[in-house]
Amino acid sequence: MPFEQAGIYMIKEVFYMEEQLKQLEQEALAKIEAAANLKELNDVRVAYLGKKGPITDLLKGMGKLSAEERPKMGALVNTVRENVTAVLETKATVLEEAAIAEKLASESIDVTLPGRAIKVGNRHPLTRVIEEIEDLFVGMGYEIAEGPEVEKDYYNFEALNLPKGHPARDMQDSFYISEEILLRTHTSPVQARTMEAKKGESIRIICPGKVFRRDNDDATHSHQFMQIEGLVIGENIRMSDLKGTLDTLAKKMFGADREIRLRPSFFPFTEPSVEMDISCFKCGGAGCNVCKGTGWIEILGAGMVHPNVLEMAGYDPKKVSGFAFGIGAERIAMLKYGVDDIRHFYTSDTRFLSQFERTEA
Ligand SMILES: [Zn+2]
Repeated sequence: MPFEQAGIYMIKEVFYMEEQLKQLEQEALAKIEAAANLKELNDVRVAYLGKKGPITDLLKGMGKLSAEERPKMGALVNTVRENVTAVLETKATVLEEAAIAEKLASESIDVTLPGRAIKVGNRHPLTRVIEEIEDLFVGMGYEIAEGPEVEKDYYNFEALNLPKGHPARDMQDSFYISEEILLRTHTSPVQARTMEAKKGESIRIICPGKVFRRDNDDATHSHQFMQIEGLVIGENIRMSDLKGTLDTLAKKMFGADREIRLRPSFFPFTEPSVEMDISCFKCGGAGCNVCKGTGWIEILGAGMVHPNVLEMAGYDPKKVSGFAFGIGAERIAMLKYGVDDIRHFYTSDTRFLSQFERTEA
């Protein structure tokens, strides 16, 4: 190719590249202007400034230019790139701010709207009764003792003066795991275990917990229920100590003007044994449906610890004595809260449970 012709070709090429560059710049700027969000803006960035974009292509084509034209064209391309980049960044800032503003607007909280009520649960009425009794006795220097619900026949019966074949076992039919292992029928085995562990020391405990009987469930019977038993052993523990303790318990649970009366009864593990009644908290003794017209309500069984029970646990009945009592938490809760069916305590019906409003702060 003659030199002049080649020069004309190059002039044309430079002119063509400049034209193309201006066109690309205008296109890019228009698209940046039109970008509605950051994603669209990024698409423009990739399309025009990316490695596969037209501006990079133009740079690759610079090899066709003369050594003099190349730097000029290079500078021009850089100017366009810088310009497009600057406009793009400005636009990006604007779009980012807009996105933040939109997010804030959509998430704004109207503080004048009423709040949503958060449902707060109550303590179960049985838990409430047990905790009240625990508080009372802990305040009188008792310890809380617990033991296994799956228990040995020995601790559940034998150590409590109920040898195999004893007729009183019939009143406490249980669920047997094996001949020697059963679900405990009362919390008394905790007393037997504590006496065994204390090895002759004085004792002042209450034992709350689940117990089991093979009963058919009805309004007043449940195969599972909660008991709270108390045991005091030491020198000079007398029936009057038991009576004073039960009187305190009755007044705490059912009101300061309650009176108690003790009636003779029988339990294999206590001698003498008593049933405790309280004067009716509804009618005050005149007779009503709660006390079935008698003016008295049966609350619990108690007695002086049987000498055999003391002896089996390693205590000398000639030196020490003790008393024990047992309360059904359900019976207390039914009387206190006017519940007519024991099964309500175990059906987890929130309509029932929510009636016991929180009273504690
Ligand atoms: Zn009454």
